[in-house]
Amino acid sequence: MCGIVAYTGPRDAVPILTEGLARLEYRGYDSAGIAVVGRSEDLRVRKTEGRVAELTASLPARFKGSTGIGHTRWATHGEPSDENAHPHVAGGVAVVHNGIIENADELRAKLEADGVVLTSETDSEVLPHLIARSSAEELEDAVREALSQIVGTYGIAVVDTRHPGVLVVARNGSPVVIGIGEKEMFAASDVAALVRYTRQVVHLDDGELATLRADGFRTSTLDARATSKEPSVIETEEAAYDAEGYTHFMRKEIHEQPAAVERALRGRLDGRFHTAHLGGLDLDPREARAIRRVKILGCGSAYYAGQVGAQLIEELARIPADAEPASEFRYRNPVVEADTLYIAVSQSGETYDTLAAVQELRRKGGRVLGVVNAVGSAIGRECDGGVYLHAGPEIAVASTKAWTSTAVVFALLALHLGRIHDLSPADGRRIADGLRALPGQIEEILRQEDRIAALAGDLARYRSMLFVGRVRGWPVAREGAQKLKEVSYVHAEAYPASELKHGPLALVNPDLPTVAIVPDDELLDKNRSTLGEIRARQGRVVTIGHRGPGEDAIVVPKSEPELDAILLTIPLQLLAYHAAVALGHDVDKPRNLAKSVTVD
Ligand code: GLU
Repeated sequence: MCGIVAYTGPRDAVPILTEGLARLEYRGYDSAGIAVVGRSEDLRVRKTEGRVAELTASLPARFKGSTGIGHTRWATHGEPSDENAHPHVAGGVAVVHNGIIENADELRAKLEADGVVLTSETDSEVLPHLIARSSAEELEDAVREALSQIVGTYGIAVVDTRHPGVLVVARNGSPVVIGIGEKEMFAASDVAALVRYTRQVVHLDDGELATLRADGFRTSTLDARATSKEPSVIETEEAAYDAEGYTHFMRKEIHEQPAAVERALRGRLDGRFHTAHLGGLDLDPREARAIRRVKILGCGSAYYAGQVGAQLIEELARIPADAEPASEFRYRNPVVEADTLYIAVSQSGETYDTLAAVQELRRKGGRVLGVVNAVGSAIGRECDGGVYLHAGPEIAVASTKAWTSTAVVFALLALHLGRIHDLSPADGRRIADGLRALPGQIEEILRQEDRIAALAGDLARYRSMLFVGRVRGWPVAREGAQKLKEVSYVHAEAYPASELKHGPLALVNPDLPTVAIVPDDELLDKNRSTLGEIRARQGRVVTIGHRGPGEDAIVVPKSEPELDAILLTIPLQLLAYHAAVALGHDVDKPRNLAKSVTVD
């Protein structure tokens, strides 16, 4: 998380930095700052608690420079404040940092014992001091020396008045992308900040460092071995990073789902054998047959989409499958099996907990596939193979289209594995037809937005809500509760419908509504009994299912039962979005959160 942007070249860096920061603000937004090396080789720094717009408005006209760095912060050490905002400075050195320095206390104590006065509570502030104290001639070597003392994760960008026109960037766990321009160079934590200026990019690997000058760049490892990098081209249109007339990115992304699902399916369904082809899988049929188990890893919404994926794989391919939070998996010394297929899910492809799980798996010889949206991202590059979502950039912090595209990609994978195992051609065709119908069916749900918005406005007055679902509805309920919490801050808890009577039914009263996921499947009667138990205790019940009518019923088109979870989730996205709007919240930048969680 947190945004980094950097520039060196003939232009004034300031508008490039502030514009880039505004585009990266979704990655962290509790404070913002920039530092530029001015014409007279002096360092100019401006940083402030709050948003990029406030920073930009506070800049005097004479605040200019041709080499500079910028940052939007997501605080890990020290509260959001002007002092804790980045860049951090020592002498002529300024640094922006994304990540966590684990041995910061120790390094701070050492620096303080040497008489250095630290002015912030951050872990990051040690970096400029360590760099400024180096006697190395080249900035790159000074940065290298400083980084050799650091334990932890970082994406950094550094300027130094002793080296005007030079930028040094480095990566370990947090993304850094270099943008190659015409006699100018850029760097950022995300291509979103670069698309306006260049399409040619180079992704740094962990343990790599780069020196950028207007006329070019060179990369090397932390131990000073030169590396060679092939630039890649950003395919996404610049407009995809704009709200394009929508008031919020979240609403735009909800409405982009029919097109996103179409892109996830494009060229992947095989009408002859009624199966799916996923180019990046790198798994021949024999290898696919040898898979005894599937374990899906992700965090937050990616984990819930993974739970949908596990159910699809179990249902269609009859391979035992489950999902687990990557953040738990990586810390519990997991048993890694040779015949298990591990799948890492991450929209950004940079989620640190998921990346760490992938690295642990690879170290133990596990086979890992990535299901990732951002092309070129770390998880995509670390895995043995994988599938891209092609959902386009997702800017709103709360995931919507990436969630849906992930579920669709899992359906394709389940179809592929199913047709290698026992799924009949007829069932394969049924699922493929069901997938093809999804974009049109999502459109149908989106046409009910006004009704769902009215319901959301009404529900927003409650302080707490239950979300319940059974089997296929259970991950849907979890995702619905998560979405509501994230953007509306209304407390929400998800339970398997069957668990209600084992405890949480005690909570039910007229002030606690329940949102129930009730597809028309073989469990409909069971679900109805649960709803009866809630209503008998004066609990309000809102249903998301295939039957109405009723004020509190949202009806979605019927899909194939195995695919129901996908469509049932769409109304819950709209419900959360409109509840948040009704409560006046900043939907795209919910408090305390940030997109792309690249810290431990
Ligand atoms: N750990 C640093 C801080 O708290 C950087 C956080 C970030 O990635 O924004 O300032």
